[in-house]
Amino acid sequence: MKTVRIIGGGLAGLSLATGLAKRRIPVEVIEAGSYPRHRVCGEFISGVDYSTLEKLGIAADLHDAKLHTTGHWYRQGRKIMTTELPDPARSISRWRLDARLQQRVEGLGGKVVTETRAGRDPAEGTVLAAGRPLEKSRWLGLKCHVKGFRMESGLEMHLGSNGYVGLTPVEEDRFNICGLFQLQPSCRGKGSDRLMAYLDEGGHRELIERLRDSEIDESSVSGVSALSLGWQKKEDGAFVVGDAGSVIPPFTGNGMSMAFESALGSIEPLTAWSFGAESWSSATRRSMAIQRQLFRKRIRTSLALQRALLNPRGQSVFEFLSSRNMVPFNTLLSLVR
Ligand SMILES: Cc1cc2nc3c(=O)[nH]c(=O)nc-3n(C[C@H](O)[C@H](O)[C@H](O)COP(=O)(O)OP(=O)(O)OC[C@H]3O[C@@H](n4cnc5c(N)ncnc54)[C@H](O)[C@@H]3O)c2cc1C
Repeated sequence: MKTVRIIGGGLAGLSLATGLAKRRIPVEVIEAGSYPRHRVCGEFISGVDYSTLEKLGIAADLHDAKLHTTGHWYRQGRKIMTTELPDPARSISRWRLDARLQQRVEGLGGKVVTETRAGRDPAEGTVLAAGRPLEKSRWLGLKCHVKGFRMESGLEMHLGSNGYVGLTPVEEDRFNICGLFQLQPSCRGKGSDRLMAYLDEGGHRELIERLRDSEIDESSVSGVSALSLGWQKKEDGAFVVGDAGSVIPPFTGNGMSMAFESALGSIEPLTAWSFGAESWSSATRRSMAIQRQLFRKRIRTSLALQRALLNPRGQSVFEFLSSRNMVPFNTLLSLVR
């Protein structure tokens, strides 16, 4: 059997490695960083079904994730809507989850090489799971963990004039605050000060007060700016999974699900290649076709919805409709899943 080499040990790379190692396919993950580590992420997983996690062999790693069905929506501090998810979202920190998956891969006999940066060029037997390619963009993602935060039960989503912020309880009295903002050079500062500057600019005064009353873990503050949304540019013939292939707007809470789903959809083609039953180019084409079919509708709809949620007129319409219980939440949700 031939070894599958995976560049990038985030959720897509590690869950793919677990799924392959579980089927006794030799696998090696090359990761630029080390574990545990914080990642810019809202840290709630919505839209993935249990059977996907089981087939990947990672369901046990999410056994203690918190489950939430209620979402509270705010616009610049005003509560505008409460929604119920048909299936619970799972919340768990990337600090905990990525480290568990690394151990899972190794426990199954796979190899994970950390603190090693590999090239992104396509090569036979190499899967690119290295996240978004670095590209100039107008987006900035910022996140931090806080303790002792006051929050209603469930999840909170705050719309502001410059983006949105999601609040998620994770483990051990920790809460994750993560936002996507339009880059503004005037919003500066070190550590959490920069997040505060963006929150202030977006009109989130009430949120800032709540953050001031809690304990911010400065070591968890992370940011990412080279962030393009939608289908990603890739080299011809590259075998990609997760964000390396497509990035869904974060408000959907579906990016991690897509990392898992793209990993699962790649296992069969990679297994066939490893056994010598399929050429590399055919396995690559098959995996891409599966991902296009799974993600086309949700990428298109979520990009349109994000445009609406990020402009003042769209937000006013959303607020008006929510005040009359007229937001077709379940229909919209089904379009981004
Ligand atoms: C602001 C924001 C909020 C989000 N909130 C949510 C949310 O609430 N729910 C949700 O489901 N999704 C959310 N997402 C999306 C989610 O984080 C991603 O979709 C998910 O992390 C994709 O996983 P991945 O494995 O493809 O990429 P990543 O998790 O980015 O992993 C890529 C890995 O590759 C490594 N790497 C990169 N280059 C190399 C190289 N050359 N060599 C070796 N290793 C390399 C990196 O170190 C990293 O570990 C959010 C994203 C953003 C930006």
